[in-house]
Amino acid sequence: MIVGIHVDTLAFPPPGEGGAKRRMRGMLTETISETMANDAPKQNYQKQLEQILEKESGKCPRLLLHTCCAPCSSYCLEYLLSHFDITVFYYNPNITEEAEYRHRATEQHRLIEELGRDIGRTASFVEGKYDPQRFLEAAKGLEKCPEGGERCEKCFRLRLEEAAQYAVENGFDYFTTSLTISPLKNAPLLNTIGQEMGERYGIAFLPSDFKKKGGYQRSIELSEKYDLYRQDYCGCAFSKAEREEQKRKRAEENS
Ligand code: SF4
Repeated sequence: MIVGIHVDTLAFPPPGEGGAKRRMRGMLTETISETMANDAPKQNYQKQLEQILEKESGKCPRLLLHTCCAPCSSYCLEYLLSHFDITVFYYNPNITEEAEYRHRATEQHRLIEELGRDIGRTASFVEGKYDPQRFLEAAKGLEKCPEGGERCEKCFRLRLEEAAQYAVENGFDYFTTSLTISPLKNAPLLNTIGQEMGERYGIAFLPSDFKKKGGYQRSIELSEKYDLYRQDYCGCAFSKAEREEQKRKRAEENS
C-alpha cells in the first residue's frame, strides 16, 4: 500500500511564476471561491484550533487527517503530532491520472515514516478507495470551471464527506484536512463544508487554516528537507489542462 503526496498544485506555484502574477492568480481564485463561501462571517480558524488544542491538552485524542499530498501534509503533521494520535487519510479520487495518484501516495507514505523518525512520533496511514469515476461524476458539467470555482467545491465535499464517514465508522474524535494550508484554497469554504459534514455524520471537525503562523512557509521548508515530489497542478485532468495552458501562454509571452 502506498502513502504519499499530492501537492495541491496551487499550493506550490510553479517555478518562474513571478510574485505579482502569483498574487494576482491567488486573488482571482480567492474571489471566485469566496463567492461560494456564502458570505460567511469572518472567523479565525487558527484561533479556534488553538483553543481546541488547549482544551485537549494532555489527552491526545484520535484525529483523522485527510491529506491531499505529502508537501501539504508536512507542516500539519509536524504541528499536530504532539497533540493528537493521527491517522493520515489519503482519499483523493480527484487525481484522475492513476500514475500521478500512486506517486503522490507513495510520497505521502515516505514522509510519514521519515518525519516520524525525526520527531519521534509517527502517524498511521490509510488509503481510501481510488475511484476517479466518482469524482468525474461529481464534476460533470463543471469541467470548464476554472480552478477555485464550483467544481472545486464539489471536490472538497466529496473528500470531506468520505473523511467524516470514515472517522465516525472508525471511532475517531476529530477529522480535518490539510487542504487549508494552500494559499490558493478557500479556507472558509473548507471549514464550512467540514463543519457541515461533521454535523451530518456526528463527528467533530477540527477547524484549521494551516497556512497561518508561517505554516505554508514551513511546508515548503519541509518539502525541501525531505525532497518531496511537488506537482505543479492540483490533481484533476482539468486542472492539469489549465496549468498547461498557463505555461503555454507564459512561454509565448516570454518568447
Ligand atoms: S482543481 Fe480539480 S482536483 Fe483541484 S480542488 Fe478543484 S476539482 Fe479538485
